[in-house]
Order: sequence, then structure tokens, then C-alpha cells
Amino acid sequence: MPSSALTLRRITVLSGGVGGARFLQGLLHGLRSGAVPGGSPDTRVTVVANTADDWWIHGLKVCPDLDTVMYTLGEGIDVERGWGRRDETWSARTELEAYGVEPTWFGLGDRDIATHLVRTQMLEAGYTLSQVTEALCRRWLTPLHGETVRLLPMTDDRVETHVAVADPDSPSGRRVVHFQEYWVRLRAAVPAEAVLAVGQDSATPARGVLEAIGEADLVVLPPSNPVVSVGTILGVPGIRDAVRAAPAPVVGLSPIVGSSHVHGMAAQMLTSIGVEVSAGAVGAHYGARTSGGVLDGWLVDERDAGQLTGLERVGLRAAAVPLMMSGHDATAAMAAAAVSLVTDGPA
Ligand code: GDP
Ligand code: CA
Repeated sequence: MPSSALTLRRITVLSGGVGGARFLQGLLHGLRSGAVPGGSPDTRVTVVANTADDWWIHGLKVCPDLDTVMYTLGEGIDVERGWGRRDETWSARTELEAYGVEPTWFGLGDRDIATHLVRTQMLEAGYTLSQVTEALCRRWLTPLHGETVRLLPMTDDRVETHVAVADPDSPSGRRVVHFQEYWVRLRAAVPAEAVLAVGQDSATPARGVLEAIGEADLVVLPPSNPVVSVGTILGVPGIRDAVRAAPAPVVGLSPIVGSSHVHGMAAQMLTSIGVEVSAGAVGAHYGARTSGGVLDGWLVDERDAGQLTGLERVGLRAAAVPLMMSGHDATAAMAAAAVSLVTDGPA
């Protein structure tokens, strides 16, 4: 529910990988520069990250979205690629290829492997993914952000997105592949016939997740993939209800600009669940909290201003502003506009 003149002591963001991480970087910049109304450098930001892209490869547990957020906010990211470590080298991948070890289409960088080794060892020693993430963040987040930024996996349980694709060689005419195979090997170039979050029904939110939503002064759905990033987070039993019941306003930013995503494969994922690929349709898909959805406000790009009336008709506060994350200032301005949208008066 929109509230007046918010003081932002705590913000909780439900994030995927690259889109969410870039938004978070701009949000933190805006909190520090004073660009975000009601915010300050002391505002605590809790990130609840998608873990349904996670998988085991070469004996290692890889968590792409957690790592993208961690490396981005810790300034260790390869900025051009948007994922993985900067100044990366690939000797291990070359050696694995020389052994003929499959799959060769998924390369792990040498520096990145160190993260996965630490994670895998800790998991095998009995620590939860939350504890492992906290330990990894002591290297990446604490030096730069102190206690103001916290990264939580959505769940400590194993949840994996799988995608059904057409396969004429299979008796059923279909084949189900792990999300990573769909994205990295198939490059999302074939239609997704269905998307399944395996293990989700029996997963529970990681410690601190429901509290972070319930105690926030603002909950944000960044411009992350609405199906396989934010959708899988909301799908963990208990999380959608917590967002619906949150005392704080809930605001989202569209990852769809014009008739497609900016990067990635949100268009393929939306099509697979029967949602039109438009900013307005994604806002309506999330829905207004006044009618059983999860949002109070929805920001679309200025190119999609024509969809505002329809969004207001489904009960959402909506506004059109530039939504391209071309730099920290531009992204901070998006975060500021998101806050203003769900705040009645100037802070
Ligand atoms: P992933 O896990 O790495 O795919 O990252 P996310 O799920 O967090 O974000 C992916 C989404 O970010 C895609 O659907 C993109 O359309 C969106 N995105 C990336 N860059 C921008 C941008 O500059 N503006 C907007 N509005 N969306 C963006
Ligand atoms: Ca992802």
C-alpha cells in the first residue's frame, strides 16, 4: 500500500542475476548520493536471490545469480560480460576439454572455480547455502558495504529450473533440460514449451527471508526475469504470501522495454507461460496487491507510456520513466522513481 514520505531504513530486493545486480548497484549508488528519496548511506539493503539456476558441474556447486550479485556489488565482476570474475583466465576449462570431459559448453573460469570450491567444501561439511553465502560475502561485501548489504539465497533447499523443449527424436516429442543447458548450450534459441521449478513445492524460504520482507520499509522487484528469477523466488512456498502481506509498499520495474527484454531470454520464458511480452502484461501478471497480486506500483520505460492506463485499470500505480541501466546515475534515477511512485508526498 502506498505510504507517505517513507524513511527507508530497510529495503528488500528480490533479485535474479545480471538485471538484478545492475539495479542493486544503482540503488546503492543512489542511497549514497542522496538521489533516492527517504534513503541514506545507512539504509540496509537485503537481497533475496534466485537459486533455481544453480547446478552441479564437475563436482562443484555453482550458484550463478548469487555470484553475479556478490561479484557485482563487491566490484569483482567482469563488467562487459555482466557475470563471472573480471581478469578471468580459463586454464581449467582448457585442461578439462583436453581430457574430453563433458559438458564442454559450460566453461568455468579459474578465479570463479575458487568460489565454487569453497562453497562445495562448506556444503559437504554440512553448512547451509545461507551460511556459505554469508562466508563468501565476508570477502566480497563486508569490506565495501559493512553491515548495510546482506545477500540471502531464497532457500537452502535444492530447487532447479528445467525447461521442456521440442525433440523429434524422443517418443514424447519433448525433452527436458536443465535451465543452464537451455540458456548456455541452446542459447534460448528454441521455444520453451514449459518451465518447471523442480523441488520448489517442498522448499522452504532460507532463514531471514520472510523477516526481511516483513520488516522492510520498501520491497522491490528489480528488472529481473519475471519467470525464472523473480517468479521462482515468489514460488517458494511462503514468499509470495509474505510479499502480499508486507506492511511496506511493493514496487517493481519492468525488464521488458518495447516488445522484448533488454538482455537474456525473458521473452521466451513469458511466452512459455502464456504472458504477452510487454511491460504492461508483466505488470498485470504480477498483479496489484489490492486484487491478490504482489505489487503496489510498476514502472515501465517511457517508450511504454501507452500502457499506463491499462496498468491503472488493474489497480497498479504506474509511471513511465527511462528504464535503461546505462550507468550508475541512470539506474539510481530509476530507483528514485520507483520509490517516488509508491510514496504519496516528497520525503
Ligand atoms: P539473469 O539471472 O542474469 O538473467 O538476470 P535477471 O533475471 O536479474 O535479469 C534479467 C533481465 O534484466 C532481462 O529480462 C533483461 O531484460 C533485464 N534487463 C537487463 N538490462 C536492463 C536494463 O538496462 N533495463 C531494463 N529495464 N531491464 C534490463
Ligand atoms: Ca539467473
